Amino acid sequence: MSAPATTPALEVRGLTKHFGGVYAVDGCSFEAPQGIVTGLIGPNGAGKSTAIDLISGFKLPDSGTVLFKGRALEGLPPHLISRLGLIRTFQSPREWPGLTVLENVVMARWDAGREGFLRGVVGLGRAQRDKSEDELARAREILDEFGLVTLRNERAGNLSGGQKRLVEFARIRMAQPQLVILDEPMGGVNPVLGERMALAIEGFIASGTSVIVVEHNLPFIERVTEHVIVMAQGAVIAEGPFEILRSNQDVIDAYLGEMVKQ
Ligand code: ADP
Ligand code: MG
Repeated sequence: MSAPATTPALEVRGLTKHFGGVYAVDGCSFEAPQGIVTGLIGPNGAGKSTAIDLISGFKLPDSGTVLFKGRALEGLPPHLISRLGLIRTFQSPREWPGLTVLENVVMARWDAGREGFLRGVVGLGRAQRDKSEDELARAREILDEFGLVTLRNERAGNLSGGQKRLVEFARIRMAQPQLVILDEPMGGVNPVLGERMALAIEGFIASGTSVIVVEHNLPFIERVTEHVIVMAQGAVIAEGPFEILRSNQDVIDAYLGEMVKQ
């Protein structure tokens, strides 16, 4: 694995967001290096998803800064942030349900704004004809790699939760962002797919995409991450390699013993 570059993929400083009286994110600061998988863990309600919403422009912070490879992202809308090379996923997979698996992957290089525009104005058929043969070939190659090639003409909306998640991973591979933030990729997915997803994450790193992964499945975190950030009550309470964190008393207390059982 390549040594982390000096500028972090992501720097979060003092990020804060409240909803009424609830401080969902409360002075959250951390760095995620380039070239590795960083885990983000913490009990339910710790503020992990809200932090991702703030980083990716889906919610505006009350205060704090987010630097993506040294560049401030504040105030940028999600489609501009993704165009800069920072993509995030959601706890439930999002796909174009009426399009085929192959179409979903081919479309991955398009930012959401343009995709919507083309579908509305010129229709999908025309939009697809505009895609180059190279891009189609690349999408087929990725589907093959992800074991999805036999499903390429299936409508994405008909797939199982795990298959939808793999299609989403295939889209990330196609888009090749500089950083991807995965919010609970194993949620609702048959654990049999876990190893395939771990390999896909290794593939992201190999192709130059740094990864931040939020996940409750701690064996998965241990398997895929090099560095782990622990959040509780909106802030970071510990960080380090998972094998050290698992015996950290603050982390154990935050999870109320959830970790020692695993
Ligand atoms: P996690 O992803 O770590 O489980 P969340 O970021 O989803 O945590 O939630 C953090 C806290 O913020 C929780 O107490 C949650 O109920 C609250 N929260 C999240 N989103 C909203 C919202 N839109 N309105 C009100 N409260 C919210
Ligand atoms: Mg969450």
